[in-house]
Amino acid sequence: MTTNNFSNTYQVVIVGGGPVGLYLGLCLEQAGISYIILEKRSAPRPGSRSLGIHPVSLELFEELNIASSFIRDGVTIQKGHTFLNKKKLGVLSFKSCPKPFNFILALPQYRTELLLEQALTEKNTSALLRNATVHTIREHAHHVDVHFEYKGKKHTAKAEYLVGCDGKNSSIRRQSGISFKGQYYPDTYIMGDFTDNTQFGSDAAIFLCDKGLIESFPLPNNRRRWVVKTDDYVDQVSREQLTSSVLSRIGHSMNNTEHTMLSSFGVQKLLADPMVKGRIILIGDAAHIVSPIGGQGMNLGWLDARDLAETLPQALYNNLQKDTILNQYQKRRVHAAKVAIRRAEMNMKLGRKINTPFFRKILVSLMLKSPISQLMANIFTMRGIERWPI
Ligand SMILES: Cc1cc2nc3c(=O)[nH]c(=O)nc-3n(C[C@H](O)[C@H](O)[C@H](O)COP(=O)(O)OP(=O)(O)OC[C@H]3O[C@@H](n4cnc5c(N)ncnc54)[C@H](O)[C@@H]3O)c2cc1C
Repeated sequence: MTTNNFSNTYQVVIVGGGPVGLYLGLCLEQAGISYIILEKRSAPRPGSRSLGIHPVSLELFEELNIASSFIRDGVTIQKGHTFLNKKKLGVLSFKSCPKPFNFILALPQYRTELLLEQALTEKNTSALLRNATVHTIREHAHHVDVHFEYKGKKHTAKAEYLVGCDGKNSSIRRQSGISFKGQYYPDTYIMGDFTDNTQFGSDAAIFLCDKGLIESFPLPNNRRRWVVKTDDYVDQVSREQLTSSVLSRIGHSMNNTEHTMLSSFGVQKLLADPMVKGRIILIGDAAHIVSPIGGQGMNLGWLDARDLAETLPQALYNNLQKDTILNQYQKRRVHAAKVAIRRAEMNMKLGRKINTPFFRKILVSLMLKSPISQLMANIFTMRGIERWPI
């Protein structure tokens, strides 16, 4: 392994260079901890996928002096218009949230990952090893061996801690014998990115329709994401299905627009138990899955990463206390994930078909009124799930 520009011993090996692994790398760089990120892909996965970057994350990015490049490339959403079917109920504004990040930023995930990677490689050109697929791990009393393949050859990296940032289907979790339990919700959605032919500009719009929720978010380059609740899981989404649902539920025609993405998703809540096992730590989607309605998953992963980067130095340099320190860290992360899960459940409930539309109208109208609207704005911008909730 010494013939390449990587060594074989680190304090931390990060498996997975998605948004969470890349951000963790930046935090460990700042903390002066030696690390490497092993990522099997040759480049960030194309596509818009997750969009919403919350103020809590922008504050973390600002600490690393990288927030401005994200804001430059994204769309700042300062308010969301709320409708009951076609009738406008009111506006939820984020303007009174703490400044300067009193907005949610919409940026396609591909771009987010590129910006994180750029920031990382500017600081450390050998931090990220792409085309490196981790196959097996072996935990020993004082270190972990990470066996991976790179350029057709097998290598082993040694680390005091291994952090699995390898996503929902984490092989690190599976190999460590960590359970991933939770629940599949009945909710299913289709979504697509289209040319923006609405009047909403940089605002979001939420339509609570009798036939199911529609959400609409701005994207850079005059595009807009549409998310539409469906009765059943749709395997092959057609443009016709999405546009006709929007037309019939809210009367908005998407004729003469182009689309760049169509997909569908079901939703789950899943938690790794435990998130820390010996020298193996799981964060991001490897540790928890939260419903995408509310757009919290990636942000929650960044909060994990920041907390871990502040916890690891204590664990690395305090052998006697390390288990207690990591146990407290784990409690904080489980708590944060549970809060995010509850908030996502609330969002989904509001968007379901209901038999009592009158009560929903009253409830939502109340939510849009001050001071409850401030509480809602805080909830929708992930306030209260910051770094040290316990
Ligand atoms: C429809 C939808 C919309 C969403 N919208 C939002 C949103 O608006 N806001 C939000 O916060 N979240 C959102 N999310 C959730 C968000 O996409 C995830 O939480 C986020 O991608 C998790 O990042 P991660 O880095 O933990 O995992 P991933 O993004 O899955 O990255 C894991 C990385 O690990 C690599 N890897 C895996 N196995 C190995 C291996 N063996 N060796 C080396 N590398 C490996 C993979 O190649 C990948 O790059 C959404 C999710 C969905 C489905």
